[in-house]
Amino acid sequence: MLHRVTGQLKQVFQTQNDLFLLTGSGTGGLEAAIVNTLSPGDKVLSVSIGVFGDRFAAIARQFGAEVIPLAFEWGQAADPDAVRHALQNESGIVAVLITHNETSTGVTNDLAELSSVVKGFDKLLLVDAISSLGSINLPVDEWRCDVVVTGSQKGWMVPPGLAMVSVSPQAWQAHATARMPRFYWDFTQARNYLERGQTPWTPAVSVVFALSVSLEMMLKEGLTNIVARHRRVGQTARDGAKSLGLPLFAEENHASNTVTAISSANGLDTKQLLRIMREDHQIILGGGQQKLDGQIFRIGHLGWVFEDDINKVMANLKEVLPQAGFRKD
Ligand SMILES: *Cc1c(COP(=O)(O)O)cnc(C)c1O
Repeated sequence: MLHRVTGQLKQVFQTQNDLFLLTGSGTGGLEAAIVNTLSPGDKVLSVSIGVFGDRFAAIARQFGAEVIPLAFEWGQAADPDAVRHALQNESGIVAVLITHNETSTGVTNDLAELSSVVKGFDKLLLVDAISSLGSINLPVDEWRCDVVVTGSQKGWMVPPGLAMVSVSPQAWQAHATARMPRFYWDFTQARNYLERGQTPWTPAVSVVFALSVSLEMMLKEGLTNIVARHRRVGQTARDGAKSLGLPLFAEENHASNTVTAISSANGLDTKQLLRIMREDHQIILGGGQQKLDGQIFRIGHLGWVFEDDINKVMANLKEVLPQAGFRKD
């Protein structure tokens, strides 16, 4: 089963690289990406556009990397030219950390473009694709991403408990000399055990069973169709929000097709809104994280989601918005 699921995951990752199922949440996968490829003192460029980009950098810093931060305003995508300048101006960078889809702001980075910049400098590219892979197109090999991380509870439609991580030949080269401390996340252990159809530690078996079912569904629908459906669903969410008079938080040409962030405006109390939607309408929306707390709310639409689901959310929002202080002008 492990071999079958791994093979199916490689189809969705569009990769021939090694791929491992690690027991843990997505953040564990991010830690694995860092500790398996870097050494304390390594200089790392952190391209961050929100909460999760900052978390990726924090993990690297915690394990002793010298993190060079390149942060963009929240709601904006990373600018490839700024990444090029950072790589030109700062010598000795060994790896670049990039979030494909920033769940906290509802922004999708142009990873193809960013990767071509990073690979132009031949740097190791570590990607947080936790809320994009399996929902938004990410051809791992074509875009030359060295370590790519996703998590079972996002577009994969199964309970939390697994991180899925691909590892390129260049990442293996880095791994050979990487000295950050690691035990549970060690890729060498994962590879040795996978040869025998096993994992080094007890795997989240129940989640693997669930994933095996969802991968059948996904491959039956087809990756192209899944990506197109998310594009339609994302557009429906953005159009719906605008038709209710709600401003979108993310710059629109980089708006995410897996999560839509909406700014509070016209007297709207987003916490009140989320509470009424949850308690009276059984619809759970997300709030803002960190400095966006109370500033935005988010509609998650990844995985088993269709236009009709979004239309229902919008119909309910229309009713609840005035109850949460929103005045349409
Ligand atoms: C959800 C998410 C994470 C964190 O994953 P956990 O499974 O909660 O550890 C990290 N990055 C992004 C982009 C995410 O969407």
